[in-house]
Amino acid sequence: MKIEVIEHIQNKNQDLMKVILDGVSIELANAFRRIILTEVPSMAITEVLFVENDTVLFDEMIAHRLALIPLTTDLKNYNLPDECSCGGHGCTLCQVQLECDIRTKNNEVMAYSGDLKSMDEKIHPVNNNIIIAKLGKKSSLVFEAYAQLGIGMDHAKFQPVCSVGYKYFPDVKIDNSKLKNSQIDEVIKHDHTKLFKKVDGKLALVEEYWKCPDFTGSAEKYVPPGAITIDYVPNKFVFTIEGTGALPIKEILTKAVEIFLEKLDEFEDQLKKVVITQRV
Ligand SMILES: [Zn+2]
Repeated sequence: MKIEVIEHIQNKNQDLMKVILDGVSIELANAFRRIILTEVPSMAITEVLFVENDTVLFDEMIAHRLALIPLTTDLKNYNLPDECSCGGHGCTLCQVQLECDIRTKNNEVMAYSGDLKSMDEKIHPVNNNIIIAKLGKKSSLVFEAYAQLGIGMDHAKFQPVCSVGYKYFPDVKIDNSKLKNSQIDEVIKHDHTKLFKKVDGKLALVEEYWKCPDFTGSAEKYVPPGAITIDYVPNKFVFTIEGTGALPIKEILTKAVEIFLEKLDEFEDQLKKVVITQRV
């Protein structure tokens, strides 16, 4: 098995990584994808206590918006509520308090995620510019919110990624001996995915051709049969992970592997019990 990071975009608006997984079956790649989506924990607001809410939005709507604000997550120092010694009732090991206190006078104010003041500096909104509600003149929005760790299997708000997916690594072969110059020009002209280029009168692939989103073989209709063949490489995938910013993508991948290994151990333990039962 070989893993190669081929692209990593990280800025205030995006956290995206493309990885090539080589020597992995599609079942394993999909298991990995599903674990990232549904079992890697992240922090989200689970409870809100409203003191004052003069906005036009109901408490429930604001609570729903707050729950969807991605929060930075600390997996080392926080427990999942179910696994915490407090029994999930909420303590400093499994819960963080965030507060909001906005009171307007003769002005209208927009409440943003940046107005949430966290009791733990490590846990805060990933982005400070997410709108919560608009306050009119002489209005108030005062509440306490509580965030906990959770998993995407229970609620999508806990997913640490916006999206995660994979596609087969493409295998494109060009036989220039079957191509005429006019046909090469025709392919280049209709190549809306920018997959091909012309080098020294010959048709060639662009350097990072695997980045092209479309491999439907639309170029094949402009050339004789067998001149261009588009196939896929078995057991080789381009994995794309777009994080919410709750966790660094490398940590998401590491945690997913950890969870996968735990599942294998559990499976092995269960399997041993089955064998013993059969002997008895
Ligand atoms: Zn606790």
